[in-house]
Amino acid sequence: MKIPITKPVFGAEEREAVVKPLESGWVVQGPFVAEFEQKFSAFSGAVHSVATSSCTTAMHIAVAALGLKPGDEVIVPAFTWVSTPNVVEYMGATPVFCDIDLATFNIDVQQAASLVTPRTVGIFPVHLFGLCADMDPIVDLARRHGLWVIEDAACGFNAWYKGRHCGSFGDAGCFSFHPRKAITTGEGGMLTTASPELAALSRSLRDHGASRSDHARHTASAAFLLAEYDRVGFNFRLTDIQAAVGCAQMDRAKWIGAERSRVARHYDEVLKQFEWLAPPVVPAEYEHGYQAYVCLFQPEAPTLANVGRLHDWRNRLMTRLEERGVSTRQGTHAPVLQGFYREKYKIAAEAFPHATIGDRLSLTLPLYPGMTGEELDYVVSELAMAFDATR
Ligand SMILES: *Cc1c(COP(=O)(O)O)cnc(C)c1O
Repeated sequence: MKIPITKPVFGAEEREAVVKPLESGWVVQGPFVAEFEQKFSAFSGAVHSVATSSCTTAMHIAVAALGLKPGDEVIVPAFTWVSTPNVVEYMGATPVFCDIDLATFNIDVQQAASLVTPRTVGIFPVHLFGLCADMDPIVDLARRHGLWVIEDAACGFNAWYKGRHCGSFGDAGCFSFHPRKAITTGEGGMLTTASPELAALSRSLRDHGASRSDHARHTASAAFLLAEYDRVGFNFRLTDIQAAVGCAQMDRAKWIGAERSRVARHYDEVLKQFEWLAPPVVPAEYEHGYQAYVCLFQPEAPTLANVGRLHDWRNRLMTRLEERGVSTRQGTHAPVLQGFYREKYKIAAEAFPHATIGDRLSLTLPLYPGMTGEELDYVVSELAMAFDATR
């Protein structure tokens, strides 16, 4: 049996959708992007949704729109995809890394509070793997110090905190539609905000800094006159081809969410027999979106002293699973252990013990809508055998 780590849900609806812009001839950002944004707002409750070419470009727009500049500091978790600190670097500002809570893999809010300096301008909580960061104390901390909050909600589709969808707590939220995420447009992203000014500025910044979109110009009179360009922008637009796929994905978003939860519930139940594997926790008042089902490999309580040995063991386990056709992955990486950040900021692995343990010992299990009982049984029995074979 071959079990992939994930599988996008593409059917007749996506195939039919993708042909429509080709038939109309309008393939750049246009009516399908607008429809995708509306559907995303309807699902998440976002006031404004602005589609972009990726989550990374949405985050880049957000930091640019909020005026991030050289000398500024932004608090970023030490366990996240590298693009979270990268957008801070791109603006010439400094990411100040914060360790995570190992139970949730999300930012340690107490430590974040201790990292605020007179140079701090913002905080970048990440809703890792589909579990919201603890937003109440984060927003509270930001208010007390006059900081902005940008939510890296790349994994946050269908992630809820106290009844609210993520992306609505900070100044902006940024989502990803990469194929590893819950819904996909190939590549794609979405910036959400409650601020009409930030939404308008983001729409302009994604489109070279234009005063109005190409589609608005083409469908009005005097289409021969170009827009005004009063600021330096980017080309971070989503295409209508991608957005058409996004619309079809949104139409099945509820089902996709229900399926992800079903598979997760099954794992929660059967993994209780493995004391060596800690499954994802879901604190009260949180709803996990299960972008990924990420466990911690912990046959012993992990520490910086044994993490190297346990890491080797986890990798032998993952190798054995791969040989048996079961795909697994590390959850994500710790940017502080990647060459650029390690060198530039002289960061030692000991500085962020939880991020280091997350990087070395996380273990993502296969999860996708439509995963069958037979496939789940296969994963679980192979897990048991792989542990016995490698201990
Ligand atoms: C996937 C991911 C990103 C990047 O999303 P793209 O759409 O590929 O740019 C950023 N942050 C986190 C936490 C992610 O998981």
